[in-house]
Amino acid sequence: MAGFSDKSILVLGGSRGIGAAIVRRFAADGGTVTFTYAGSKDAAEALAAETGAKALRVDSADRDALVAAVAAQGPLDVLVANAGTAIIGDPLTFEPDAVDRMIDINVRAPYHAAVEAARRMRDGGRIIVIGSVNGDRVPFAGAAAYALTKSAVQGMVRGLARDFGDRGITVNSIQPGPVDTDMNPADGPFADQMRGFMAIKRYAHADEVAELTAFIAGPHGAMITGSMQTIDGGFGA
Ligand code: NDP
Repeated sequence: MAGFSDKSILVLGGSRGIGAAIVRRFAADGGTVTFTYAGSKDAAEALAAETGAKALRVDSADRDALVAAVAAQGPLDVLVANAGTAIIGDPLTFEPDAVDRMIDINVRAPYHAAVEAARRMRDGGRIIVIGSVNGDRVPFAGAAAYALTKSAVQGMVRGLARDFGDRGITVNSIQPGPVDTDMNPADGPFADQMRGFMAIKRYAHADEVAELTAFIAGPHGAMITGSMQTIDGGFGA
């Protein structure tokens, strides 16, 4: 495959989980891929060696470092803002700083990265933010703070799609339901409850989300913009 062979692609948060699957998908299709990570140095180096992608240690919560890293990539064809964290539980017990850090990583980082990427993105570029079906539906307790970050992504992509549409740049969110990763393992303590909300009662594989990402980033995605592409096994149905 060589569908992305002339494309420059940046994936924020690519060392593990869904982001790593997205790095693999674009690299397999010939893309020139750079990805960021924060804590998982060994995983990042292993993925870089496996795929030929370039790994950069950049904490998405550090706005200045993030913006500088995006700018340093030069003209991008595709930005995927995947890095995210989830704080789930009793909000009365949360550390406020931890909640604010999640908002920094899940909301502020994709916004500032998208705007910086758009400054020099080629016409017809793609900006994709990995949101969550929890931006639409929160059928269990303990997810208010996480859900607010994913709902914020929805407004962001609608607005930025309007801002950059005249250059043919599309801006979309991909909204997974439960996906088997370190964040939400298919054998974790909440997995049976999560499957109970789904029409197709299995966790998605990260590569299924990566495949949808590649479609949105590819030539057939040119008229998809300002949209939420949900891939959730019917969690939100
Ligand atoms: P994982 O926890 O498995 O992986 C998270 C990835 O994001 C890692 O590569 C991690 O890198 C990176 N990351 C986290 N914080 C930062 C940071 N501050 N700076 C840079 N990179 C960072 O999560 P998933 O793969 O499951 O989730 C990926 C995205 O998908 C998130 O936005 C999440 O909200 C969303 N999502 C996931 C679902 C699921 O069921 N798994 C469902 C719906 C949405 P490192 O370890 O190096 O810090």
